[in-house]
Amino acid sequence: MIDIAIIGAGPAGMTAAIYGRRAGLNVCVFEGELCGGQMVYTPEIENYPGTGKLSGAELALNMRAQMLDLGATLVEEKVTAVSETDGIYRITTWGGEYEARTLIIANGAKRRKLGVPGEEKYSGRGVSYCAVCDGSLYRGKTAVVVGGGNTAAEDAEYLANICAKVYLVHRRTELRAEKHLASAVLNNDKIEKILGAAVVSIIGDKKVTAIELDVGGERRTVDTDAVFVCVGLQPENGIFADVAELDAAGYIVAGADCKASRKGLFAAGDTRTTALRQVITAASDGAVAATNADRYIKENG
Ligand SMILES: Cc1cc2nc3c(=O)[nH]c(=O)nc-3n(C[C@H](O)[C@H](O)[C@H](O)COP(=O)(O)OP(=O)(O)OC[C@H]3O[C@@H](n4cnc5c(N)ncnc54)[C@H](O)[C@@H]3O)c2cc1C
Repeated sequence: MIDIAIIGAGPAGMTAAIYGRRAGLNVCVFEGELCGGQMVYTPEIENYPGTGKLSGAELALNMRAQMLDLGATLVEEKVTAVSETDGIYRITTWGGEYEARTLIIANGAKRRKLGVPGEEKYSGRGVSYCAVCDGSLYRGKTAVVVGGGNTAAEDAEYLANICAKVYLVHRRTELRAEKHLASAVLNNDKIEKILGAAVVSIIGDKKVTAIELDVGGERRTVDTDAVFVCVGLQPENGIFADVAELDAAGYIVAGADCKASRKGLFAAGDTRTTALRQVITAASDGAVAATNADRYIKENG
């Protein structure tokens, strides 16, 4: 029997594994894609204390090595269902079924889609959700970044170093990004800002050729080779709806103690109701969740 089952090997899940193993518990981490979660797509993490300038991928590899060195088991299978009976959590994956005394959900969040015609059709053929992953395909070409938050601003800056021309399209008239990121974009002549603009559709033949916008009621078509969609996060917690309470946006309801709505159940990182979603807060949640899971196990024999 697993003491702590952890769904997701992002910073929250891997930190939970490190704390769980240091408490001497049998820890099993389930990861359906790449260890590191969203960190894998982050060119540089500048706000995680003590690491200096480090890429997200490097930080992910360090965390992975640390949790494996401490003896955590990594199961590289996506979790498809979870249930609880008499205090035992049953975890179903692509590959099998597992039982655990406690469960930490640390499955993060996914990038939100625009939901406009052409987005699905040209996904992987010009439509991308990750500038760091796909930006180099558009070296010397034109790219449109859609969004006005931190990720959109970072991605527009990143692409401006690669592409011949970058447009930043945002539906509001001001960027939501933190001040230093927003001013970098606003002062970058290589990035043309199209504010107060809604995306109508993404146009192409075999791949993306243009994006159609509604700018204050006027239609405008911008020729482009790529559209990078950076419009925020979306939790994917449907499979947990029977065991955990979700808020209206779909996040798992859990406070700073990471305790979810059922005994032995915890939510850590971007997946839970929280004001800040960052690497450091995810890691902090992982530590808190594993410590409270350990306490729960000790109290319940
Ligand atoms: C482009 C970008 C730049 C960023 N820059 C920074 C930055 O500079 N500084 C900073 O602090 N933060 C940054 N962030 C935010 C930060 O990366 C996240 O807040 C953090 O990674 C959240 O950690 P997490 O462990 O909660 O979730 P995630 O990192 O999302 O990890 C969750 C993991 O769970 C896995 N998973 C999901 N569902 C399942 C399932 N059913 N079965 C098995 N595995 C599953 C996923 O594959 C993933 O690996 C950035 C994010 C992005 C996207």
